[in-house]
Amino acid sequence: MSVVTVKGSAIRKLQRGYPWLQRSDVRWESDVAPGSLAELCGADGTRLGMGLVNPGARYPVKILRLGDGGVDGAFFRDRLDRAWDYRQTIDLESDAFRWAHGEADGLPGLIVDFFAGHAVVQVRNLGMEKLKPVWLPILAERCESVFERSDMQGRKEEGMEEFSGQLAGETPERIEIRERGLRYLVPAKDGLKTGHFLDQRNSRAHLAKQVRQGDRVLDLFCYTGGFSLAAASAGADCLGVDIKQLPVLCGQANAELNGLTVEFVQANAFDYLAESAEGGYNWIILDPPAIAKTRDKRDSLKWGIWKLVHDALPHLNPGGRVVVCACTWQMGIEDCWDVVQLAAGDCGVKVALEAVTLQDRDHPAVAEFPQSLYLKCLWVRRME
Ligand code: SAH
Repeated sequence: MSVVTVKGSAIRKLQRGYPWLQRSDVRWESDVAPGSLAELCGADGTRLGMGLVNPGARYPVKILRLGDGGVDGAFFRDRLDRAWDYRQTIDLESDAFRWAHGEADGLPGLIVDFFAGHAVVQVRNLGMEKLKPVWLPILAERCESVFERSDMQGRKEEGMEEFSGQLAGETPERIEIRERGLRYLVPAKDGLKTGHFLDQRNSRAHLAKQVRQGDRVLDLFCYTGGFSLAAASAGADCLGVDIKQLPVLCGQANAELNGLTVEFVQANAFDYLAESAEGGYNWIILDPPAIAKTRDKRDSLKWGIWKLVHDALPHLNPGGRVVVCACTWQMGIEDCWDVVQLAAGDCGVKVALEAVTLQDRDHPAVAEFPQSLYLKCLWVRRME
């Protein structure tokens, strides 16, 4: 087993539960194989815990556990059981939930979404990949199938290729799930990320509770129609816009499955707002992808949100609401509200902040890892 020495200055951080160490926080005792499991020790040799080590990665150590104890099947079973049990205590009104939310569930780099008996996983670091033979059987035991969707760019910095494929059983092309009385078909194999954005479940519910019969809703960046379907089921007249064809087709199928009528358009949301959108909406949902994962991209996200809000507000009826979602921890609630105020001022519209919703509770935002609070939606009313 490799041994990594944690410098004194970083020990407090580790003991407070922050799950990552930087290069400057550690000293390698010997050649550490990328992706290996290592014992973490203080300079005096005291054992601090165990972590996954990848010397070339931006954060070369991800902490799996503090104190004594190993990392084996029993460890994973305990973490996955706890994560599972927590999800059973929250009333999600759905047969789909995020079972494991990586670092926030003590499982760095492992994302597991549970869709009505089928698991869809994402593996974000090499150490977790190498431990697959240990954790996969536990998922396979409890699920009809396990499919991996690790086709995301972040793997490059871990020295990993993108991967997507079947790990156990057979996952259907479309998994049917239920969410608050609605049925959604999840394109787990060819949709975005794991196929369905579970983190917006509570915000979709918030919308459904507030729309009134006949309200007009413009759902921009609609994906498979999550917000549109929720609003249409409450009697709203919805139009969904997405740049890709697959979400639009899935959105139509979802609407039909629920006996709802929603119009879907394949278009760039920025262009659509600037060139094609009619006015008179009661609600405009802006749920763009996380275009800023890193600090240096933050300004482009701010610009994107400014532009969207600036172009959306004139299409809202007075008293209508724009829902501004930012799904990266790089942009906090205050930052987002600042941008909204700026955009409103620039188009001469008065606004009020009515509510803020966060990622749903199966995506825990844990105190010791600020990055785990990533999604916030601002519900903003156009006053006049
Ligand atoms: N609100 C959705 C999730 C949105 S995910 C839900 O509740 O399920 C973001 C979506 O934005 C993706 O489907 C992606 O295809 C789409 N997208 C990305 N860039 C876009 C653009 N410029 N115009 C329109 N859609 C875009």
